[in-house]
Amino acid sequence: MTEKPNIDHAEIAKFDALASRWWDPDGEFKPLHQMNPVRADFIDGKSPVAGKTYLDVGCGGGILTEDMAKRGAVVTGIDMGEAPLSVARLHALESGMQVDYQRITAEDLADAQPGSFDVVSCLEMLEHVPEPQSVITACAKLAKPGSNLYFSTINRNPKAFLLAIVGAEYIAGLLPKGTHEYKKFIRPSELSQCIRNAGLEVSEITGMLYNPFNGKFRLSSDDVDVNYLIHARKPA
Ligand code: SAH
Repeated sequence: MTEKPNIDHAEIAKFDALASRWWDPDGEFKPLHQMNPVRADFIDGKSPVAGKTYLDVGCGGGILTEDMAKRGAVVTGIDMGEAPLSVARLHALESGMQVDYQRITAEDLADAQPGSFDVVSCLEMLEHVPEPQSVITACAKLAKPGSNLYFSTINRNPKAFLLAIVGAEYIAGLLPKGTHEYKKFIRPSELSQCIRNAGLEVSEITGMLYNPFNGKFRLSSDDVDVNYLIHARKPA
């Protein structure tokens, strides 16, 4: 175990409480369902996952994790919430998908299994942990040389505050109030720096734009103002 686990227990409790709703496409996790096709296609397009070892950090109920298993990856999903993991295991069973779900931090898994994964993703999770750098460093350690990594979070600026908190939580009611804390949002420049600090190379940054009229996300390389996704590589 790491000496001081990089966990915010209030955050874990929030996700635990809502876990039973995880796979309801119109429930509290609707935005994750809506963004999943574009992020999954992005990852599978940049680094085809079939037959690869894949780690999803902060996997929650397994929306992306299971999708990667469906695409033929050999998948491990880790999270510190017990309830989301139970939901994820049950859902995988119902879908007939094989996923190894474990309750462990990225930091502890990195100590146990360094250099094990061809692809590592950590999506919509960094804005819920006390020290994002520590998670990113652990992801880098978990990845094999020459592998691909993906990180996504929410930018920190007035527009992101308006859309991701005021709009999504208070006006549209897409997310429960209190889901996100403005000061934990991360600017692309800060996330890129953390990624480089971990010895990785940033290869692409793309925005994920939400269209409230059709409920769909699309990728856009010139608008990273709110949700965005980074593709990084570990040097061979
Ligand atoms: N990555 C998933 C779920 C995002 S929700 C997706 O995009 O579909 C954020 C998840 O991060 C929750 O399941 C929460 O339990 C988990 N989480 C928060 N802090 C964590 C930590 N320190 N270690 C592992 N998981 C954590």
